[in-house]
Amino acid sequence: MAKGMQALVKTEPGPGLAMMEVPIPEVGRRDCLVRVEATSICGTDLHIYRWDAWAASRLRPPLIVGHEFCGRVAAVGSDVTEVSVGDYVAGEGHLFCGRCYYCQTGQAHICAQGRIIGVDTDGCFAQYVRMPAANLWRLDDTVPPAIGAIHDPLGNAVHSVMAAGVSGASVAVVGCGPVGLCSIAVAKRAGASAVYGVDVNPYRLSLAQGLGADAVIRSDTDDPVESVKDLTGGLGAEVVLEMSGHPAGIRAAFEMLRKGGRIVLLGIPPGPVQADLTSWIIFKEARVLGINGRRIFETWHRMAELLRSGLDVSSVVTHRFSLSEFEQAFAVLAEGRCGKIVLVT
Ligand SMILES: [Zn+2]
Ligand SMILES: [Zn+2]
Repeated sequence: MAKGMQALVKTEPGPGLAMMEVPIPEVGRRDCLVRVEATSICGTDLHIYRWDAWAASRLRPPLIVGHEFCGRVAAVGSDVTEVSVGDYVAGEGHLFCGRCYYCQTGQAHICAQGRIIGVDTDGCFAQYVRMPAANLWRLDDTVPPAIGAIHDPLGNAVHSVMAAGVSGASVAVVGCGPVGLCSIAVAKRAGASAVYGVDVNPYRLSLAQGLGADAVIRSDTDDPVESVKDLTGGLGAEVVLEMSGHPAGIRAAFEMLRKGGRIVLLGIPPGPVQADLTSWIIFKEARVLGINGRRIFETWHRMAELLRSGLDVSSVVTHRFSLSEFEQAFAVLAEGRCGKIVLVT
């Protein structure tokens, strides 16, 4: 095997990324080397690309970025038995210690020592990525690489929808980025009585319609709270999935929730947000669920079952580029006329 590979590297603190040749990672006894077939760009990667305050506080360059991928196992460490060379896999990008309180109680996704590939350690915007064998998930051969690559955001959606419980319920999804779009399809598949998509971006609302939304609401021209109340006989939605992270979106999400309803908070706000606990939560008897990542591997099993049973999220992927066309890909993402962007290596 060659010694070098192409990778997208944050070489030093500051905006941008560099495509460069770097050594192929060496595998430890419990690691695997994966030949990346497809990888997708996350909002997190845009923060890193632009080098905002969060990125500057968290990343320690030089670092290969990217955390969403699928590919084929190219090499395994001496103690690896669960996967073999040639296996088609996706990766759980949240690294966990396996020994802390959270890992021992079935909550490895919120491990006390949790780290994320492409943020805290080298990631997958490269021809190869090194992963602990414990973080690999074997994909069915029927899963196309573009879908294998988006298992991370699809898993966020599955975890959110399953945590909220949507069977027979009206569901409003605030923020129709890739996780919101996947959530619409998953909620429909999971038996929601109706799903409403809310966003300011008309392109994303058209994708939401294609994924099965019963109605879409453009929140910069229509009042999203009144619109959802109109659609639900004045009650508001029984379940709200807040996936925008925008303070105005968070406010609207709580206000459109009916009394006794369930609200998932997944979108990450840019800073502290003022909340009216009395009217948003206490008097409403709202149940508020924070969601972070994917349950390892409960969410992944559910994802596999849903895909096998016909869940179709292929229209979430709107653009494909080669890894070397990353500047074009980030420009499309920054503009927002896109769903998920996949990079093929
Ligand atoms: Zn991501
Ligand atoms: Zn742990």
